[in-house]
Amino acid sequence: MKQSTAIKEEITLFKKTIEAFAKREIEDYYSTWEKEGMFPKELWKKLGDAGLLCVDIPEQYGGLGAPIHFSASIIDEFSRLGYNAVSGNIAVHSDIVAHYILNSGTEEQKARYLPKMASGEWIGAIAMTEPAAGSDLQGIKTTAIKNTLTGEYVINGSKTFISNGQNFDFVVVAVRTNLDVPASRGTTLFIIDAEQNGVTKGKKLKKIGLHAADTSELFFEEVIADSSQILGEINQGFMTLMRELPRERTALAVGACGAMEGALEITIQYLHEREAFGKPLSQLQVIRHKVAEMTTEAKVNRAYVNHCLELLETQELSPADASIAKLSATEAQGKVVDGCLQLFGGYGYMEEYPISRAYTDARVQRIYGGTSEIMKEIISKDILGK
Ligand SMILES: Cc1cc2nc3c(=O)[nH]c(=O)nc-3n(C[C@H](O)[C@H](O)[C@H](O)COP(=O)(O)OP(=O)(O)OC[C@H]3O[C@@H](n4cnc5c(N)ncnc54)[C@H](O)[C@@H]3O)c2cc1C
Repeated sequence: MKQSTAIKEEITLFKKTIEAFAKREIEDYYSTWEKEGMFPKELWKKLGDAGLLCVDIPEQYGGLGAPIHFSASIIDEFSRLGYNAVSGNIAVHSDIVAHYILNSGTEEQKARYLPKMASGEWIGAIAMTEPAAGSDLQGIKTTAIKNTLTGEYVINGSKTFISNGQNFDFVVVAVRTNLDVPASRGTTLFIIDAEQNGVTKGKKLKKIGLHAADTSELFFEEVIADSSQILGEINQGFMTLMRELPRERTALAVGACGAMEGALEITIQYLHEREAFGKPLSQLQVIRHKVAEMTTEAKVNRAYVNHCLELLETQELSPADASIAKLSATEAQGKVVDGCLQLFGGYGYMEEYPISRAYTDARVQRIYGGTSEIMKEIISKDILGK
């Protein structure tokens, strides 16, 4: 399905709205938020008021019912502008958690959570990773044990590296509910509210990049959950995770494309302004070729990621294709922002130059949402069999 000219024009206009929002609500505050280690809850409310959260959720649940390209544009544009902490945390909220609930939630869960997510009143998080289990999610140790008398579940365990880990109002958490079978058949997702007894947000983790994003540990101690808090089927949590991963990975790849293009934009501008040996850097052939190479990398990835978005819209995107997009775009992002920083010389290493932020923010893209090595596992299994 090729995008019509009308939709393309609407997306261009929508991106301008996002840029104007960023200028108004983010630009002057972002470096303060970086120092504080997170952006404030009020920004979520403003994002909601501006119609920039959960835009592809149906209108009956508070969204705009827009095609996926609009949701992707939000990640894309905030990444292009260098506000990767905002784009990443929005992606968790709007592109991951909201779709888990939309696709697997009961009517009651959808009605309870989605409208408040779209308005920015409630912020969502997802907690899979544990201190001893990241890539190998089958190794998670957090449990939800059923009390046969009350029918309620008691959750104990800890999670780490949780995005929106300080600001979240509720979290979708993966726990073991049957220890007698492999985790793939004994894991369940629960929706747990931050205010529930026994839920403790741990410390805000200090990272080498994404300084304005709150990433935290999370503890569950004797948390009581009833069966209405189960998301999807009992013991079928892995099925839900697997179903949602292509979307999560495409969102990360979209962010990578936006970030690459943004890094190239500021670099090209700098190359025209900065002089060496009597002429602008943009006149030196070796630099011109470097820019040509990096632009090629960015454009080729953009084309593939757009292709994946089209497939996602029609629910035809395979896990392997999403992994190819994530692997290729995030690896390219790493190379491109590194190459761009090099062209700034010593200034590229200075915090006041946005290219330094693009560089440190980019590093995690090859790690979270499944590492590059895990992407290669998925792709190679698809090609060569298990
Ligand atoms: C800033 C940030 C935000 C995050 N947000 C969230 C979040 O919101 N929710 C959440 O649940 N998690 C989140 N994560 C966790 C993230 O998804 C994990 O860090 C990631 O999946 C890797 O797991 P790990 O850190 O345990 O590394 P490990 O799994 O220990 O991997 C260590 C190394 O071994 C490699 N490796 C592992 N297995 C294999 C294999 N089979 N073959 C080849 N190589 C392999 C890995 O690729 C990696 O290089 C976040 C992480 C960060 C840094």
